[in-house]
Amino acid sequence: MQQIAVPIAKKGRETERVAPRASFAQKPETLKIEENLPLDAASSPEAEAFRQEIIHVGRKLWERQYVDGNGGNISVRLGSRYVLCTPTMLSKADLEPADICLSDLDGNILAGDRTRTSELLLHLEIYKANPRARAVVHCHPPYATAFAVTGTTPPSGLITEYEIFIGPPAVAPYETPGTKAFAETVLPFVMDHNTILLTNHGIVCWADTVMHAEWLVEIFETCCKTYLLAQQIGKPLSFIPESKIQEILALKRRLGFPDARLHDVAIPAEGTNAELERLVEQVTARLEDRE
Ligand SMILES: [Zn+2]
Repeated sequence: MQQIAVPIAKKGRETERVAPRASFAQKPETLKIEENLPLDAASSPEAEAFRQEIIHVGRKLWERQYVDGNGGNISVRLGSRYVLCTPTMLSKADLEPADICLSDLDGNILAGDRTRTSELLLHLEIYKANPRARAVVHCHPPYATAFAVTGTTPPSGLITEYEIFIGPPAVAPYETPGTKAFAETVLPFVMDHNTILLTNHGIVCWADTVMHAEWLVEIFETCCKTYLLAQQIGKPLSFIPESKIQEILALKRRLGFPDARLHDVAIPAEGTNAELERLVEQVTARLEDRE
């Protein structure tokens, strides 16, 4: 049955800063809103927390100059049936709770009085293809987009943080933004890559939370910038030794991070390497904000 879009209550229209949720290693929480009607889901405490997180991340994207004009968009899954997303034609610096739309997985707006971003189709394809993706951030950071307009990526093996959280990113071919064909360009890559360059356009990142998807944008943009600066020094690049890359891949497998290289390497079984176990615990604690 066709749902009628309804405005989200204007309460809390003044945006307050809240601590974003953090749980890279944590399993996505099971929301008890699966059976709820869209309006109930849209006004649930979970939805309210997600709206605040989207607003917070939108502000960060704008302050870091990763979005321009009304560019970029953010979404998060709400239970198994719904998605909260940013609207079209609004700067990510100016978002308020009532601006955030509630959509189903087909892109139908169920709550909210603004028009959703046309690029929600891209987010929905990612959610439908990879259930581990619970949040998606798409934006146009200048250094990453510089690579996107050449259809290339920075080389792997230069920066540890980049190797752990991202690894070699994919490059999706060009299509007209906002179309279904554009949304589907990422499908071959979305299981093995949490960061995908969109040729002649920008990047898209998925993660377990909105904040973590934005972290991936930061890490990728910083890597692109650092690589370009390093080339100006005029000295040969120093690459991480292959044996150490294998250690990083073992860590990634334990942490459940995607990386296309994991298909090709033998990784020690859980519990057979005490040093690796300690590293996993350290990174997990950091991601869960326990240290
Ligand atoms: Zn875009």
